[in-house]
Amino acid sequence: MANVAIFVPHNGCPHKCSFCDQRHITGQSSQPTANDVKSTLKTALSSLKEKSKETEIAFFGGSFTAIDKNYMLELLESTKEYIGSFKGIRISTRPDAINSEILDILKSYKVTSIELGAQSMVDSVLSANERGHSANDIKKASHLIKSYGFSLGLQMMTGLYQSNDDLDLYTANEFIKLNPDTVRIYPTVVLDNTTLASLFKSGKYSPPDAETASKLCAKLIPMFENANIKVIRVGLHDTESLKSNMIGGAFHPAFRELCEAQIYYNKILTVLNAQNINNGEINILVPKADLSKAIGQKGYNRQKLLTMGFTPSFIPNDTLANRQVLIKKG
Ligand code: SF4
Repeated sequence: MANVAIFVPHNGCPHKCSFCDQRHITGQSSQPTANDVKSTLKTALSSLKEKSKETEIAFFGGSFTAIDKNYMLELLESTKEYIGSFKGIRISTRPDAINSEILDILKSYKVTSIELGAQSMVDSVLSANERGHSANDIKKASHLIKSYGFSLGLQMMTGLYQSNDDLDLYTANEFIKLNPDTVRIYPTVVLDNTTLASLFKSGKYSPPDAETASKLCAKLIPMFENANIKVIRVGLHDTESLKSNMIGGAFHPAFRELCEAQIYYNKILTVLNAQNINNGEINILVPKADLSKAIGQKGYNRQKLLTMGFTPSFIPNDTLANRQVLIKKG
């Protein structure tokens, strides 16, 4: 779903999450005024025209309901005259910044979707990364949000300090139990001048790189999809600000493509094993629209299969869908 993104950095945030440098994640540090919001929406409306009905107004930044209350109300108030023109309003916030009073306010301003920066469902990981809330806070906030009828989004980070693949898989399973409508997966990127940067520089933390993270995400994405949960984002947006401040971790400008290729690679191996094909010429039939994903960036999957003794041909097929793979011995 498209959105008109308005970044609201939490200047003066009392927390100091290990990974956070708000200024560089959002690429800006100044907070938008009500007039800024109105003019952004006016411009978006004139360029989107009818498409605006399928577009959400999105207040991103991670702490929308934790910012100064009057300022939050001012921003919401500025959307009023545009409400009917857009599909709805999406906000992102912290799990411990949700309560009935806040949800009543959001409802009255026609907010439709609430995303929680949950990051992990493991208390020891949340605490090691100085999140300042517990897994139980995430559960409570999620249930409350759903009870009000909002669309619920959950965001998780993989590869955080003191986490590992098993704990990240546990987080995904706990998310599924909370039945969110959408999920975003952000493999950890280490930004300079953060706690993670100090841990990284002192050798106490080695974040997974993009390739390693993509292997984990290739398991997480199908888990969510099989539970009918939309994965609306995988990996941070490619911005100059991010690139100039990151010193390690799992960043790739086309990270989701890496994950999609890895999902196909896993599927191909499963089908080969099931058919007991161990080497030789193989024709791999894949959905037409997914041909490049199946082959992988720079022919990565083809190369891997070649080194395993296969001679693969990837063949687009019109009748296959949903990452179906058929393999015929050549
Ligand atoms: S990520 Fe953590 S430190 Fe950064 S703005 Fe949000 S709550 Fe504050």
